[in-house]
Amino acid sequence: MLYLRDATFVDWKSLRLRRGHLEVASGDAGKIRFVSRVPRGAEVLECSGRLVTKSFVIAHHHLYSALACGMPGPKRAPKNFPDMLKQVWWNLDRALDEDMVRACALAGGIAAAKAGTTFIIDHHSSPNAVRGSLDLIASALDEIGLGHLLCVELSDRDGKARREAALEETDGYLRKRQGLVGLHASFTVGDELLDRAIALAVGRDTGIHIHVAEALDDQKACAQQHGMRVVQRLASTGILESPKTLLAHGLHLNAAERTLFRSSRAWLVQNEESNQNNAVGGFDPKGLGNRLLLGTDGMHGDMLASTRAAYLAAQARGGMSPLDAYRKLRRAHDYLSTNGFQGDGDNNLVALDYAPATPVTERNLAGHFLFGMNSSHVEHVISGGKIIVKNRRMTRVDEDKILKDAAGQTERLWRRL
Ligand SMILES: [Zn+2]
Repeated sequence: MLYLRDATFVDWKSLRLRRGHLEVASGDAGKIRFVSRVPRGAEVLECSGRLVTKSFVIAHHHLYSALACGMPGPKRAPKNFPDMLKQVWWNLDRALDEDMVRACALAGGIAAAKAGTTFIIDHHSSPNAVRGSLDLIASALDEIGLGHLLCVELSDRDGKARREAALEETDGYLRKRQGLVGLHASFTVGDELLDRAIALAVGRDTGIHIHVAEALDDQKACAQQHGMRVVQRLASTGILESPKTLLAHGLHLNAAERTLFRSSRAWLVQNEESNQNNAVGGFDPKGLGNRLLLGTDGMHGDMLASTRAAYLAAQARGGMSPLDAYRKLRRAHDYLSTNGFQGDGDNNLVALDYAPATPVTERNLAGHFLFGMNSSHVEHVISGGKIIVKNRRMTRVDEDKILKDAAGQTERLWRRL
């Protein structure tokens, strides 16, 4: 048992505040409860003056880009989004080897944990080092103490051998661990691969995780090659009826696709900062319903920053209240619990050293999440009832050594670009 002494606890659903000593049980189903006193000799985190609440989930991440920050730019400016993929991201992921994949997972995992995240839904790609890549990422995140739902990107973009290796990697991993079947995007996935991916997902009782209409080019290619829109193509396979299916982006959807998505059981992840960075358009929630989540799309591991970006972008498109933005941040917990995925129980918590000039109440907490709090306030993080960040330092892994190693891997990676 772990005890958080004198915490100001924020219930993530009701936003109710309660001050007292919290007892935190460990394990997947570990519960939390208030106790009148902390037992002598127990493991204690002093939380006086700290806001303690449920930690965060990244609903769409690419840990494989963790060593990309500051990398040299492409030789010429990309003409459009597909050109950006070819020149930047596919160049990067093809250069990754096993040591770099592990360094990415450790460095990206640490950054996320220090920003208050305890669960990562990742979309991985390393076409020339795919075998065993999911196990490498899973063990890195396990070492840090993070929950995860992984997949490897299936695609026809790198030919048959790499496609088959990614299918094999997915199948082997899903036999052992919870995960999803990853697909790059409709425009790099042929009909045969799509059918096999869906069969794999159905056979392993899971959903797919795919980029959808991130740029208009995805829709154009789908119309040309398949005579339909992207969401229609996916819906025709039946996989949108899986509540485990995750679509990322969903920027260029027409009214029929919005209706199709809304009446399905799939979820959609907004990645506002990435969309702005790639200049692919803005996210419009119109007609999509409530199964909308937030991700970082590999830009960073900071969900408070992602939530703020989504909130600010929404102001130019009809507005959004702070409470609605907060609810969007929290909807990933519903996605995970509805589907019975492990690793996001009540005993996943973040303690924030947050002392604003204005009062914090149940009614204005969403405003504090958006305008006051940021990742620099994250002091302690508890995952599965165990402390993984204490006083802003990792407890289970040697972060200085990991970052030093990552710098060495970064040097190797950038030389290949
Ligand atoms: Zn993505």
